[in-house]
Amino acid sequence: MKGKSTRKKDVNKLRRNRLSARIAVITIFLSLFSIIVIEASFINMRSIIKRYDEILDVDYTIRELMSSVMSDINKHESIVFHHMVSGEPAERRALMNDENDVRLRLKNTMSTLEEKVKTTHYESGYHELFSDVTGYMNNADIVIDLSRDREEQTANFFVRTMLSPIVNSIDGKVHTLDSMISKDIALTKTDVRNTTDMMRLIMRLIMIMLVFGTIFTVFYCTRISREMVSHDLLTGVLNFDELIRLGEKLGHKKRLVQYSGLAISIKDFKFINQEYGSNIGDIVLKNYATILNSKLERNEYLARNGGDNFVALVARDRADSYLKEIAKVPVDVGDKMGLTLTTRCGIYPISETDTIYDVINAGVIAVSETRRSGADDFIWFRRERRDEMFRQKDILNGYRKAIAEEEFVVYYQPKINLKTRTLCGCEALVRWIRNGEMVPPGSFIPVLENDGKVQELDFYVFDRVCRDIWDWQRRGIQPVRVSSNFSKLHLHNPNFAEDVLNVVDKYGADPYYLETELTESSGYEDLDAMIYFVNEMKEAGIATSMDDFGTGYSSLSLLRDINMDVIKLDRTFLRDQADAKEEKMVENIVKMIHDLNRKVICEGVVTEEQVEFLKRVGCTMAQGFLFDRPLSREDFEKRLINPYYS
Ligand code: C2E
Ligand code: MG
Ligand code: MG
Repeated sequence: MKGKSTRKKDVNKLRRNRLSARIAVITIFLSLFSIIVIEASFINMRSIIKRYDEILDVDYTIRELMSSVMSDINKHESIVFHHMVSGEPAERRALMNDENDVRLRLKNTMSTLEEKVKTTHYESGYHELFSDVTGYMNNADIVIDLSRDREEQTANFFVRTMLSPIVNSIDGKVHTLDSMISKDIALTKTDVRNTTDMMRLIMRLIMIMLVFGTIFTVFYCTRISREMVSHDLLTGVLNFDELIRLGEKLGHKKRLVQYSGLAISIKDFKFINQEYGSNIGDIVLKNYATILNSKLERNEYLARNGGDNFVALVARDRADSYLKEIAKVPVDVGDKMGLTLTTRCGIYPISETDTIYDVINAGVIAVSETRRSGADDFIWFRRERRDEMFRQKDILNGYRKAIAEEEFVVYYQPKINLKTRTLCGCEALVRWIRNGEMVPPGSFIPVLENDGKVQELDFYVFDRVCRDIWDWQRRGIQPVRVSSNFSKLHLHNPNFAEDVLNVVDKYGADPYYLETELTESSGYEDLDAMIYFVNEMKEAGIATSMDDFGTGYSSLSLLRDINMDVIKLDRTFLRDQADAKEEKMVENIVKMIHDLNRKVICEGVVTEEQVEFLKRVGCTMAQGFLFDRPLSREDFEKRLINPYYS
């Protein structure tokens, strides 16, 4: 059993671990994915920006080169013009040096320009410009030659008709190219802006995705962990802790009373486990729980309380119909195999003062009642039974303190000799003074007997009895024989007699004044032990009596087998209107007891008529409220001093 529950725990742990691993993988995957996408976007962005930078770089350079071409052409043109009008050979030489510089610079600029335009669509424009520049240079050479030869008129004519139109054409081409480049630059800038906007959008989408991913993971993890905390992992229904939490919540809202508590288990479930193995057992539990759960309505709950035990909170007016639905539950166990399960159920209609714990306790007790042989599969646990259960619990809880704080006190009920109407003995009866109130033994002895605590209490009483007898003798008060009640449970103790004698020895009480009472029913259960005990007592000089004689089914055989000194007739012998036949019977029983050399006493005498009846049938001793109720020690001492009844 222990091994099985450990295995279950292991399985649950394994499931939890698997689940955690899955969640961890999802989280890691999401984070990694986001990091990769963001990183890729950055790289992409950087390369796009770099590419645009390069394009713009080229465009700006071409633009600069072309304006430098234009300014050099202009410069060249003005040198040529100066050359034409200058008369000084030295000045002309200087101008030709400048002209050479400009020409060289123009050549260099044009070849750099050629390099730069190679990757652009301005290449054809460049070639046109190049041919214009070359044309200009050739014509400029002609003008320079004409000027040198002093043919000003022809040179002038050449300048106007050839050189100036070419310069204008170059200017026009440079302007066209420049405006093309300006347009391209503007386009590229718009492109860059659009691309950056696009990238920003992508990044935002990724961020949103990441946020949603994180929210989803957190939500998923929370849901799973909440589910793990509140649900049973095998069956998926609520677990016990969750039921308690829910029950307390319903209790606070005063809504628990609207339910009936159902403690449910599967009939012969352990045989299913034994027969088919615990794997099938698990499937059965899972499917059974699923079916039970599916029959519930909104705001009704089902929880697993370990093993095949479930607790359901079902709306009070639906309990009967729910029970009908779950009485027989067909479950599928795989491999085309099915089982029909019978449900056992303890039903508890919840009252206003009940807590969820009361509900579960009541249900569990009721369902355990269904396990008794011949019991019904459904048992309703009524409030009275629950109250009785709590009363018993309360007694057991208070018992220890009661012993420790001497809350148990001994009362003495006189026994009377009917011939002389004098005190001839008494019975020690225990009372529990609890919170200032006297509790009669009938309400706690059976509970302590059930729990095996009564033996201790019997010896507690017997101890006080021995001490009182010793005390009365010491104080010169003449005692009477005191009988003490002992539960039949003592007969299971092989040292019972020895224990009794030890207490007697402890106080040095005179055994003559002692009597031990065992109920008649004790003999049915352990005749040998009773015979042994009675003999031991006899040997020690302590009297024995058979309590409640006549209540059992074989009183007479006990009379034969056990040699007790006193027989206590039960009060049932004292019928109010005993007819002649009955009287004859009682007379013969008394006679028989006397013939067997035993004494006889009748308990429960409440009227003078009963006294007369007892006298007629030959019973000369009685105990009853007619003479005295059980008395406190102080009151009883007064009886010892004045033993006469009127
Ligand atoms: P019991 O041994 O048969 O004790 C007699 C009971 O009858 C006592 O009830 C007594 O008060 C009651 N009684 C006496 N005369 C009358 C009467 O005229 N009318 C009525 N109606 N009742 C009368 P009590 O004291 O409540 O004890 C009930 C039972 O509790 C006892 O029945 C005995 O079985 C058990 N008991 C009491 N003290 C002890 C104890 O120390 N140990 C054990 N094991 N059982 C004890
Ligand atoms: Mg008794
Ligand atoms: Mg009795």
